[in-house]
Amino acid sequence: MDYIKEDKEYILNTYKRFDVVLTSGHGSILVDENGKEYVDFSSGIGTNSFGICDKEWVDAVCKQAHTLQHTSNLYYSKPQVELAKLLCEKTGMKKVFFANSGAEANECAIKAARKYSFDKYGLGRHEIITLVNSFHGRTITTLSATGQDVFHQYFFPFTEGFKHTPANDIELLDKAINEKTCAIMIETVQGEGGVMPLDKEFILHIAKVCKEKDLVFIVDEVQTGNGRCGYLYSYMEYGVNPDIVTTAKAIAGGLPFAAILFSEKTEKTLGFGQHATTFGGNPICAAAAYTIIKRIDDKLLNHVKDMRKLIENRLKDVPEIKSISGKGLMVGITLDENIKAADVVGKGIKNGVIMLTAKQKVRLLPPLTITEEELNLGLDLLIKSVKEAK
Ligand SMILES: *Cc1c(COP(=O)(O)O)cnc(C)c1O
Repeated sequence: MDYIKEDKEYILNTYKRFDVVLTSGHGSILVDENGKEYVDFSSGIGTNSFGICDKEWVDAVCKQAHTLQHTSNLYYSKPQVELAKLLCEKTGMKKVFFANSGAEANECAIKAARKYSFDKYGLGRHEIITLVNSFHGRTITTLSATGQDVFHQYFFPFTEGFKHTPANDIELLDKAINEKTCAIMIETVQGEGGVMPLDKEFILHIAKVCKEKDLVFIVDEVQTGNGRCGYLYSYMEYGVNPDIVTTAKAIAGGLPFAAILFSEKTEKTLGFGQHATTFGGNPICAAAAYTIIKRIDDKLLNHVKDMRKLIENRLKDVPEIKSISGKGLMVGITLDENIKAADVVGKGIKNGVIMLTAKQKVRLLPPLTITEEELNLGLDLLIKSVKEAK
């Protein structure tokens, strides 16, 4: 079958795909239908963070598939309980709700933030402040939350009650807060917005203001979480205590899954019948996530930090590369103005390395378990691709 031709015929044309049919892989290496190998610097957009078909993950998925694939949330489920307990123990958060995607996780956080405020202060205190250049998902409400105008087209009317303020501007943030505000939602590193880390002072200020004004402090860790930035969750680097943390992408090692973590302040906000999902907390995904979260320990996090140093050291003297942004293995590469990130990614496919873009940057999200050897090979191919794209 000509999969590329049939894809275009039968699958809705919403993705501009590269002309590659990926079929298998191992570690941080992907293989296409012709047997060509690629170093994976994308992890399926930050999901396969323990690489392709990691043994412990495969075993957990298969074991659960052979035992019980789904229960519905009307019954107790062992994998859910084990995972929720592990997440609370590792973060100090008090309760967990499971969902299936990042957008859904953020929808849940938004509902909880508004209800927290409604319960305590009544109607009208419902506005949520998010940042210019943020990305929070593709549902109508999470598009509203997203601070990028390109996402505010076609689908009117969007959900009301979101205000966007520029990242790292404390003064403008303070001006945006008024008696209608109920929450502030941030990514510590804006991922889709161009791998832009927030300033530490800005994050600390948000945490302080939320505490003072009883706003719900939401951290969207969909992309930055689960070890990606060198911490289990990226907010941990700053010593702040969010009221709600959302995460998805890498949490279940490449299966669709999300978790919303609630602190002492918000753990009782959503009660019986106020939020639910059919698939959220699915036992196979929960069992998979358990094997991932359990293994995000200091050793792995130190490896992430070491691999970042290696990337910075190898790229700092490449004349076509201007700067490196991000944290841990969430890497943004700013190129010379005359080089297009999309061209570098295209050359990379020809040369055998799979990369991503974010705005004008080349973005790398390699598996957290990538070996030094795989990383060096990928960087050789990346540098070659940058030079060819000139
Ligand atoms: C990817 C992403 C989302 C959306 O996640 P989906 O699983 O695609 O719904 C939300 N927030 C951030 C920060 C993301 O990177």
